[in-house]
Amino acid sequence: MKHIGCHLSVTKGYQHMGKEALSIGADTFQFFTRNPRGGSSKKLDMADVTALLALMEAHQFGPVLAHAPYTVNPCSADPRVREFAFEVFVEDLEKLQAIPGAYYNFHPGSHVGQGTETGILMITELLNRVMFPEMTTTVLLETMSGKGSEIGRTFEEIKAIIDGVQQTESIGVCLDTCHVYDAGYDIAQHLDSVLDDFDRIIGLSRLKAIHLNDSKNPMGSAKDRHERIGEGFLGLEAIEAIINHPKLKHLPFYLETPNEIPGYAEEIALLRRLKKGAL
Ligand code: FE
Ligand code: FE
Ligand code: ZN
Repeated sequence: MKHIGCHLSVTKGYQHMGKEALSIGADTFQFFTRNPRGGSSKKLDMADVTALLALMEAHQFGPVLAHAPYTVNPCSADPRVREFAFEVFVEDLEKLQAIPGAYYNFHPGSHVGQGTETGILMITELLNRVMFPEMTTTVLLETMSGKGSEIGRTFEEIKAIIDGVQQTESIGVCLDTCHVYDAGYDIAQHLDSVLDDFDRIIGLSRLKAIHLNDSKNPMGSAKDRHERIGEGFLGLEAIEAIINHPKLKHLPFYLETPNEIPGYAEEIALLRRLKKGAL
């Protein structure tokens, strides 16, 4: 854990998120690029973004993580839903050029009965349409729990998507600890072997960010319900091992636990106490 932050609301602007992060001991953050249920996004206020960039530089922030809306499904059976995903990606990636080196995280999608192979083809097709050579953003595929017909439950599926992407230097992975655990990867008891699998199948150099969440459900439940740090089935000992793991400690971590701001402040303080070595 090199940087630690949590999910913040974008409604009061970019600089506000930076200040809010600072006020709770964070040195990065995640935000939705627009209302999580979709819909149009506001135009960028460049003065606001510039103020955030200055704050980030002054306080040595890690990369910010923009999260695509949940309604984005690049492998829907409905062409209008796929077109919506395309429009959101184009708009968001264009906007994120104002924040050089940002991450753009999305849920690969649900194939809704069309099959994993078709779904993966549709996802790579979208990515190849929206990525462009000048982009400074790295697009991150989020590992999923596998509820419903979600793609991205296994490392093999994530790898198949990456293999289909032409602009290979701009694609990476965000590992969600609740999701992989619910998907059946035992990061509580066998973290080393899960990371070995990740490295063998995807390559650890693709891993750019961690969503740090405990899980309300046991391993393999395919549920995806986040729990506060140390209060779920993963437990505090496993979380401590994850944030300090030699193969993960250079990465930014983002909390998406069920919390308001004061709860996030507590969790960040707890994680900083558990972190071994200098901050
Ligand atoms: Fe997510
Ligand atoms: Fe997540
Ligand atoms: Zn989740």
